[in-house]
Amino acid sequence: MKSHARVVIIGGGMMGVGLMYHLAAEGWDDCVLVEKGELTSGSTWHAAGQCPSFIADYNMAKIHHYSNTLYPRLEQMTGQATGWHGCGGIRFATTPEELDYFRLVEGIAANVGFRMQIIGPEEIRRINPFVTTKGVLAGAWTLDDGHVDPAGCCNAMAIAARNMGATIVRYNRVTDINPMTNGEWEVVSEKGNIVCEHVVNAGGCYADRIGAWVGVNVPITNLKHQYLVTEPIKEFIDRDQEIPIMRDPYCNAYYRQEQKSGLIGIYERSNTREAWIETGGQAWEAENELFAPEYDPIMPGLERVMERMPIFANAGIIRVVNGASPRTPDHNPLLGPAPGLRNFWFCCGASIGIAQGAGAGKYLAQWIMHGASEINMVGVDPRRFGSFADKVYTRAKAHQGYTHMYLLRLPGEERPAGRPARTSPLYKKLQAKGAVYTEAIGWERPRWFSLDGRKEEWSFRRSNVFEVVADECRAVRERVGVLDLSSFTKHDVTGPDAEAFLNRVLANRVSRREGGIVLAHGLTSTGHIDSEYTVTRLDDEGFYLLSAAAAERRNTDQLNLNKEDDEQVTIKNITEELGTLVLAGPRCRELLNKISSADLSNEHFPWLTGKKVEVAGVTMRALRINYVGELGWELHMPIDQLEAVYDSVWAAGEEFGIADFGMYALSSLGKEKAYFAWGVELINEITMIEAGMERFVNFEKGDFVGRNALLERQREQLTWKIAYVEVAAADADVRGGEPAYDGEKVIGVTSSGAFGHTVRKSLAFVFVPPAYAVPGTAFEIEILSRRRQAKVLAGPAYDPENHRLRS
Ligand SMILES: Cc1cc2nc3c(=O)[nH]c(=O)nc-3n(C[C@H](O)[C@H](O)[C@H](O)COP(=O)(O)OP(=O)(O)OC[C@H]3O[C@@H](n4cnc5c(N)ncnc54)[C@H](O)[C@@H]3O)c2cc1C
Repeated sequence: MKSHARVVIIGGGMMGVGLMYHLAAEGWDDCVLVEKGELTSGSTWHAAGQCPSFIADYNMAKIHHYSNTLYPRLEQMTGQATGWHGCGGIRFATTPEELDYFRLVEGIAANVGFRMQIIGPEEIRRINPFVTTKGVLAGAWTLDDGHVDPAGCCNAMAIAARNMGATIVRYNRVTDINPMTNGEWEVVSEKGNIVCEHVVNAGGCYADRIGAWVGVNVPITNLKHQYLVTEPIKEFIDRDQEIPIMRDPYCNAYYRQEQKSGLIGIYERSNTREAWIETGGQAWEAENELFAPEYDPIMPGLERVMERMPIFANAGIIRVVNGASPRTPDHNPLLGPAPGLRNFWFCCGASIGIAQGAGAGKYLAQWIMHGASEINMVGVDPRRFGSFADKVYTRAKAHQGYTHMYLLRLPGEERPAGRPARTSPLYKKLQAKGAVYTEAIGWERPRWFSLDGRKEEWSFRRSNVFEVVADECRAVRERVGVLDLSSFTKHDVTGPDAEAFLNRVLANRVSRREGGIVLAHGLTSTGHIDSEYTVTRLDDEGFYLLSAAAAERRNTDQLNLNKEDDEQVTIKNITEELGTLVLAGPRCRELLNKISSADLSNEHFPWLTGKKVEVAGVTMRALRINYVGELGWELHMPIDQLEAVYDSVWAAGEEFGIADFGMYALSSLGKEKAYFAWGVELINEITMIEAGMERFVNFEKGDFVGRNALLERQREQLTWKIAYVEVAAADADVRGGEPAYDGEKVIGVTSSGAFGHTVRKSLAFVFVPPAYAVPGTAFEIEILSRRRQAKVLAGPAYDPENHRLRS
């Protein structure tokens, strides 16, 4: 066995092999995959092999779609049978909301490139003459997916990888992993040790134990799932054509043809079964493990499948597959760097890993090799979870997701499992005032305030809280509003080398003026956007960095891993130590003057300045910035003082008409100012040039991460720009992932949108070729299957000169 390799992948299931194949295909053939048993002997071999392309997330849809383009070709490429059946799939809608959901995915399909049609019950019965369509409004017919023999497909990728030079070592368990002083890793296995530059945890149901060797939490729960195979069915024998894979919310089940038999998989709704492997763990020796059939939990779903497909009713069951696979709290896989470690990667946590294996492998290989992938991987980055995602949280979320597998989650719908995980001291107080919370990386954040007791009627369209949000926006624009945004990621970067360090890691120059605030971005080595910080200079050697809640782990790593050993810099994550109130609106200064003796005048405290001040008797950091575009301050204080300060702010604000506002209003107000969001617009697919944000890059200050690549980019022709558009939409706004059209040609994709309540316009950002980003250009955006006119705006829809912020 090799004693050195560039990459060691632990685990020979669909995920690990999918990665190995793509690393080799891109040129990294010095790669060893170590598997404790036979390839596929974990969760892969027993899977039902379905590869859906109906995915409502733009980036996940790309992962799935890529797999569906590779799998049909593998057999010819390698000679290994893969059992690919390109029979397509049909998913049922039984409610108008589900139909809207289909329309949303239809737009994603147009962008990503998989074929999808919304068809009526009659057409469904033409394609599958055996299904009853009672209560079915429509079907989403995806024509490019199918099912595969998972073992054959995985082995085909393994053969192809071997042919390109990769090495596979079977029947060799990895027993430990050690970091080496030179930055390499030592992978300890039964057949010897391998020293390598990169380690990948592709251990499937064992991934959490592999993570524990290097001290990282892998948020997975391993759950059982069952499908049944019937004896051959006459109707299938008599017919040449295969029915598509049916996905049915009525039964929470999938069903299809398996050769001439029926195959039925049920996601039981009741949450009573114990999660597998909660105590003690699966034996390391386990291989090709299945469990005894458990009929009771799946009977309700099975009965409904029989109603739908009466030809199944009289067929005997010849096989029950009851196996385990891992699930994460949000059901997306874990693809990317392990938190806190250099060159240690996750390629695990996949609950639909057959469908995802190749796509995940392709884009993760790019990330490992080039420092960034060509798609936005924020939604699968393992660092989206923190210590809050412990076993209890993970298990609760995973169970909930499993039982709701085909049940639509509507925009605005909040599900209870695992909550609240992270709260600010104001949580209960605001809840009592009507706050409706939404969750972001564990944090509970007010989304809107129900002052009259109303409940949101969740929808893809504008809902019954539209006017409530308008009121919250009005309060901020006309009076003063307050928002608890304690979820901000907060770092203190201090020390004699802090300034030089930040100037080396970030693209902008940090302020040389005490109290100066700048927006600064971390870039990848390829010059793409990796992170965004608001950097305030506190004093000679101290800087306060604010960034998006979701970036906490990522940014902590970016700062720590970029620090040189000899740099005198201390990096401290103080996210949970400080609470944050956003106070904004034209009456804001008057309000603060009542509870603070600080000089808040424009002369002493201009826009883009931070100062230590006393407000309501509490010393805090006050920053004259906000993301709503009004006169305002962000108040950052010791978190145990948050409630007292909030009370004082509220008491002082009543005479000015103070109001609480939430994330819905924040989104509307920010969109009016054309503010981008990290992870949505500011993503690793683009550089600061495509984002039109070169003014936040300082090339003169000397070298910084990504500088040369960005200079190179300046000389190249751009493929994308972000256009800011006004959309002629009356009932539904852009959500992200909608296609933009010039005639019948798809020319771009939206990233986000919102209704601007002050300017009374539906606003959105669209990634388009540069020619379409010119102000005044018109094209169409398809929202929920309807084309709407879009016009590119020259600048922010609200206060383009920033008079209000400077007021
Ligand atoms: C009944 C059932 C049906 C399913 N149907 C579908 C489907 O239709 N479509 C779909 O997309 N998904 C399906 N899935 C899910 C799918 O099986 C998994 O998502 C997928 O197999 C995960 O692949 P993996 O490579 O991450 O894990 P695995 O296949 O489990 O691979 C991990 C490998 O790591 C090895 N390993 C672990 N620890 C070590 C170590 N220390 N040293 C060496 N090797 C180690 C294991 O032996 C194992 O082979 C189904 C799951 C179940 C239970």
